Amino acid sequence: MTPGARAPASPRHRTTARRTKRRAPDPVKVWAKRLERTRPNLVRDVLDGLAARYGHQAWERRLDPTSELILTILTQNTADTNAEAAFQALRLAYPSGLPAEHHNPGLGWGGAGLPDGAPPDWDAVERAPVQDLVEVIRPGGLANQKAPRLQAALRTIREARGDHSLEFLAEMAPLEARAWLTAIDGIGKKTASVLLAFSFGKPLMAVDRHVERVSHRVGLIPAKVSADDAHDFYLALLRPEETYEAHVNLIHHGRAICHARNPQHEICPIRDRCRFVDPKAP
Ligand code: SF4
Repeated sequence: MTPGARAPASPRHRTTARRTKRRAPDPVKVWAKRLERTRPNLVRDVLDGLAARYGHQAWERRLDPTSELILTILTQNTADTNAEAAFQALRLAYPSGLPAEHHNPGLGWGGAGLPDGAPPDWDAVERAPVQDLVEVIRPGGLANQKAPRLQAALRTIREARGDHSLEFLAEMAPLEARAWLTAIDGIGKKTASVLLAFSFGKPLMAVDRHVERVSHRVGLIPAKVSADDAHDFYLALLRPEETYEAHVNLIHHGRAICHARNPQHEICPIRDRCRFVDPKAP
C-alpha cells in the first residue's frame, strides 16, 4: 500500500459506521407505544370520562384569527378576565369601523367572554407610540412586555403578507401553519395552537398550565416533559378529530376540579386512572 494511503474499511468498521448512522428512536412515538402497552386505553378512558362529565365539544370559530392571536398573547401569564379587559380597551382606543363580531369563548375559557364588537384597527395598533399602547393595555397586566410584543407580531405579519389578515393559514397544513406562526418572536407552540385550533379547527393540541397539570398527574405525558414539548406528545396520543375536545375538556377539568391546590379527587371522573392519587393506577 502507498505510504499515507488509507486502508480500506474492514467489514467490521463498515457495520459500526452503519450503526452510528441509525437514527435514535423518536421519543414521542416510543412513549405513545409504551403507554398503550403498559396502560391500555388510558387516553380513551380519560377522554370518555371527561366527556361524560363536561359533554362533547363541537368546534365553533371563537374570533377572527388576528383577534384570536392578539387576545391569546394578552392571556400570556395573566387571567383570561384581564386579557378581555385589555382587548376591549384596544377596541375602544383604536376603533376600526368594521362589522362587530361575536366572541364564542365556550367551555375552558376563564373569562366572561368579550362583548360583541369590531376588531381593533390593527394598523393603528401597530403604529401607535409604544408608550400609548402600554397605557391602553395596562388593565391586562405585563403591559410593558406585551405592547412591544403585539406590535412586533403585527409588523411581522404585515411585512410578510401585506396586511394583518391571517386567514391564509386556513390553506396550510397544521404543522406548517404552526411553524409559520412560531417563527414570529413571542409566539410559541401554545399561542399558535390556540389560534389554529379555535379560528380554523386545526387538529393541534394547545397545552397550557391546566392541561399540563392534569396530564402530568394522570400520567398521560412523561413527568419530565415540558409543556412546550407536550404539544408534540399529544399529536402522537390523539387522533386529529379528538384534539379539540381533548383540549377544551382537559383545560376545563383543570379549572373546575383538578386545581393546582386542593384538587377535588372525590368527585373526579377520571380518578380510577390517575397516578397522582394512586401511583399504581392502571
Ligand atoms: S384524581 Fe385528582 S389529581 Fe387526578 S385528575 Fe382527578 S382531580 Fe386531578
